[in-house]
Amino acid sequence: CSDSSGALPVLGRDVTVPLVTGGEVTYAALDYAASAPALQRVWDDVAAYAPYYGSVHRGAGYLSQLSTDLFENARRTVEEFLDCRAGDQVVFTRSTTDSLNLLAAALPADCQVFVFETEHHASLLPWRDARVTYLNAPRTPGEAVDTLERALAARDPYGPALVCVTGASNVTGELWPVRELATAAHAHGARIVLDAAQLAPHHPVSVQDLDVDWVAFSGHKLYAPFGSGVLAGRSDWLREAEPYLAGGGASRRVTRREDGGVDVEWHDSAARHEAGSPNVIGAYAIASACKALTEEGFDRLIAREQHLIRTVRAGLAEVPEVRVLSLFGDDAPRVGVISFVVEGWNSSHFAAALSAEYGIGVRDGLFCAHPLVRTLLGSAPEAQGECGAPEAAPGEKSLNAIRVSFGAGTPDEHVERFVRAVR
Ligand code: PMP
Repeated sequence: CSDSSGALPVLGRDVTVPLVTGGEVTYAALDYAASAPALQRVWDDVAAYAPYYGSVHRGAGYLSQLSTDLFENARRTVEEFLDCRAGDQVVFTRSTTDSLNLLAAALPADCQVFVFETEHHASLLPWRDARVTYLNAPRTPGEAVDTLERALAARDPYGPALVCVTGASNVTGELWPVRELATAAHAHGARIVLDAAQLAPHHPVSVQDLDVDWVAFSGHKLYAPFGSGVLAGRSDWLREAEPYLAGGGASRRVTRREDGGVDVEWHDSAARHEAGSPNVIGAYAIASACKALTEEGFDRLIAREQHLIRTVRAGLAEVPEVRVLSLFGDDAPRVGVISFVVEGWNSSHFAAALSAEYGIGVRDGLFCAHPLVRTLLGSAPEAQGECGAPEAAPGEKSLNAIRVSFGAGTPDEHVERFVRAVR
């Protein structure tokens, strides 16, 4: 917990950036919620494998067989990391967005979907072709469960239904009562998918303990590089759905019909939704990250991250103009994602100053969660609130916010510099 250099080494710790005030400083990457730096271990594993990679699944050569083994072993590593049930499938996708769109495309006919308006757009928007009910922002975890219970009790009880919920907010970092929401969903014959994009990098995610039907996450937030993600969970809806992409790898047998058309027999396995040459390096990198986090131990990672959270929150609390955004209140359990506004400041200018004057990388805006951030800021839905929004005068409401986020490998010095800079 007092490891001031950051527990798990990540890339980019020695990168220096110029300051407008002159000189240079090591870059403080405090935008993990957008993309976390890759773990050194992931980089080393990928570099060691790179000379050996070959085509997956179809090649007869030794390196193709090796790559196929690594790809399929990566699937098993993710299965273990998520503590999946026997029979669950792990589909490699491009990202959380891709995973949730894949599930949306695989919904059974007439499926009703229930989603809180507080979700990231990746989990808010893919369901628009279904019968979707948007639930109002709850102000406590208990209210979230009650709101869902009420909505499910009023649903058509015979058709299929799906609840989509985030595990940890990408705006407030607050943890959602996933297990309780899953219990409510199942009690009403609905299924539940967990958007674990922000949860999986910070907390163990057990499909079985949380009793969720699917989990989605992204490699680039889990200390692996861009371009790979995961959808893991129940196989039935996925097996019964049309393939997400049509093409080689997803098809078991393709034959020409007498009438001139083609018949296709699709795979029942995860390959059904992985047409085309898969991102074997991406899958391998995710598996490497899963192993590294497991070996380091989430207990240790969480203890260290909570220490960083306390430093940031205590520092922000000392600045009277700062308002930290929160849905569930100060005592809510949270991960290292903290959004705030500074009275009298345009958030974009504030974030730009942190970068230019202190070498600190944060994010400003509405964080792809427009309804949630507007609720938290109390701004009107028609307010623009994007980068370049007009400066909020003292007493006026900000239209966008600043987000600082961190995790494995964040040294104390980065968050201390951030607190100093805000002051
Ligand atoms: N869900 C949440 C909670 C997120 O924070 C993000 C990324 N900001 C996503 C989904 C989408 O992830 P990706 O951009 O990797 O698809």
